Amino acid sequence: MSFKKINLIQTLQKSLAEEGYIRPTPIQNRAIPIILSGKDLLGCAQTGTGKTAAFALPILQILSNKKEGAPRRRTIRSLILTPTRELAVQIGDSFTAYGKHTGLKNVVVFGGVKQRLQTDRLKAGVDILVATPGRLLDLMEQNYIILNHLELFVLDEADRMLDMGFINDVKKIISKLPSKRQSLFFSATMPDEIVKLAKTILVNPVKIEITPESPTVEAIKQSLYYVARPDKKNLLIHLLKDPAIVSALVFTRTKHGADIVAKVLNKANILSEAIHGNKSQNARQRALNNFKEKKTRVLVATDIAARGIDIDELSHVINYEIPNIPETYVHRIGRTGRAGLGGVAISFCDGEERAFLKDINKLIAIPIPLIEDHPYVSDAAAIVNPKPSSNKDKQPNNKPRSSSGKPRQAKGGSRTEKSRSEKSSASEKPRGERSSASEKPKSIKSGTTEKSRNDRSGASEKSKSWRKNKWAREIKSNRGKS
Ligand code: AMP
Repeated sequence: MSFKKINLIQTLQKSLAEEGYIRPTPIQNRAIPIILSGKDLLGCAQTGTGKTAAFALPILQILSNKKEGAPRRRTIRSLILTPTRELAVQIGDSFTAYGKHTGLKNVVVFGGVKQRLQTDRLKAGVDILVATPGRLLDLMEQNYIILNHLELFVLDEADRMLDMGFINDVKKIISKLPSKRQSLFFSATMPDEIVKLAKTILVNPVKIEITPESPTVEAIKQSLYYVARPDKKNLLIHLLKDPAIVSALVFTRTKHGADIVAKVLNKANILSEAIHGNKSQNARQRALNNFKEKKTRVLVATDIAARGIDIDELSHVINYEIPNIPETYVHRIGRTGRAGLGGVAISFCDGEERAFLKDINKLIAIPIPLIEDHPYVSDAAAIVNPKPSSNKDKQPNNKPRSSSGKPRQAKGGSRTEKSRSEKSSASEKPRGERSSASEKPKSIKSGTTEKSRNDRSGASEKSKSWRKNKWAREIKSNRGKS
């Protein structure tokens, strides 16, 4: 299928050719004709699938087709509501790139920066507005934004809106939109509250579900390192000695952790910057640009800051800490291997993170290959659920064991892997019963994802309460930031 076959106008085909896009992705193939026909859409899909172009292209086409009869002064005819500033900027950039021959104008508004520049742009006239909920409401209350002429509304990453505590703001915004409009609703997962919300927004929607093309198995080379927490920084520096790692996105669980890792790397003469919610929007954008332009080699990020970050040809993702939510692992490693490119995802796991790793293995359906020949191997980390401050973690066997220290990929049935499965709890499936490596992970689909979420809820009380506190903290810190 080509962009011409799905009836995209010449001006859009031209800019897509300039972007180097040859053919539509599956979500574009399915969504574009539906949107062009004027129907509402419920799309179950996540970033990395080509979702932005799937809604941006038909919106640009509909608006440019109707341009002749439109009022002379530009009014906001399309609104895209998205949860994070980074996503908003990226969506705005996509509209600019795809729409550069259409004459349509987009403006992006988000919190955390002074509003003046944004209000000046709004006053100059805008066709397409991309916004995060908090700043949009602020500007609507000040009458800088009037949505009476809105024709097309997109709610992007609805489940993330819910996670980040924005759902009431979203409902408030929707109540102010004209009732006669076309609405598009995107969410990576469809929990009950999201389904309910979708029903209040959409009229007879066409539903589509797109599963990312096995990002964890086919395109991305994954590996796992058991390492005690205090040795993680040393292992990171050790791995970054390899010049093949041209640029790496390193994930930490906390903002503080991101700052510390960036500091440690800079001290070791590895240029790095941290990006997280405590940094000003300008600082975050600057760090992102420096990383994209390869001025810094390492970008250390928290999950929320990295959500939706789109970096072409990112070669390495390093999970300095294992995420407590398995879907986050898939999202993180999906930062590499985008649009069919290969990539490498490395994960550091200490003893206390084994429960999280177990959840990830369950979701992706195959064990992550273990690297056991490295200078900071922690036997304690290889044991399921060791005591938090196990003495073993402090024993000399965590000190560098090999001076050459070239990591080597563990073969199936390696000592550590074997001892791990021997010691694993009864709830872990024996290896023989697991899906083979050649099988695609089945559970990235939203339905199974929901199921695995339920499965998990009874799995570990400790991780559950940790997660609850973390979410509460994140929601608190995100309120007022959008
Ligand atoms: P998204 O899911 O919108 O975040 O897009 C993921 C990445 O795929 C972005 O880098 C897009 O520029 C890229 N992309 C989107 N559509 C296409 C396409 N049809 N061909 C090639 N790359 C694409």
